[in-house]
Amino acid sequence: MMSTTHAAIGVTLATSTLWVSPELAVPAALGALAGGIFPDLDVAVVAHRKTLHYPELYWPFVAVGFAVALLVPSPVTVGAAFFLLSAAVHSVTDAFGGGLGSRPWENDDQRGVYAHRRGRWIAPRRWIRYDGAPEDLLAVAVFSLPGLLLYGELVRRLTLAMLSVSAVYVLVRKPIGRLGERLDV
Ligand SMILES: [Zn+2]
Repeated sequence: MMSTTHAAIGVTLATSTLWVSPELAVPAALGALAGGIFPDLDVAVVAHRKTLHYPELYWPFVAVGFAVALLVPSPVTVGAAFFLLSAAVHSVTDAFGGGLGSRPWENDDQRGVYAHRRGRWIAPRRWIRYDGAPEDLLAVAVFSLPGLLLYGELVRRLTLAMLSVSAVYVLVRKPIGRLGERLDV
């Protein structure tokens, strides 16, 4: 799944604050957006879907984050809680995407996301066959609706920007994969 899909899922989760504490809805959305992207920062330098992806281990921090946010509600604590929640959900939902490797649409890789506690890779379920697949674009479009419709200028603009980046990425995803494979040889 694309980082932007995870970010949009996070923003969708953060909409709960619109009803509970609307004054904290924007920090919650921004925290969720950043937390949805954060795990994928491991893509360039270290082991992708392993170093910053923790399908089990983020959850205790999510619990602590939300306990603190409930006790001391503020833009920082609420933003941090949704950052952690979004990173946790990202790490779990990556298992529903495709495998690693430069051509994940060929189903030649069985690494979905790394489960650190179990010490092994969780196999990809391929509900979304690979990051940048047409169904990934559909997912990011659907999960962008709350960001586009329920928030003000800032979140709406960021959501629109992510949606635009996603559309371009879907168009170039396969050529990039082929180029990556050529450079590996
Ligand atoms: Zn990821």
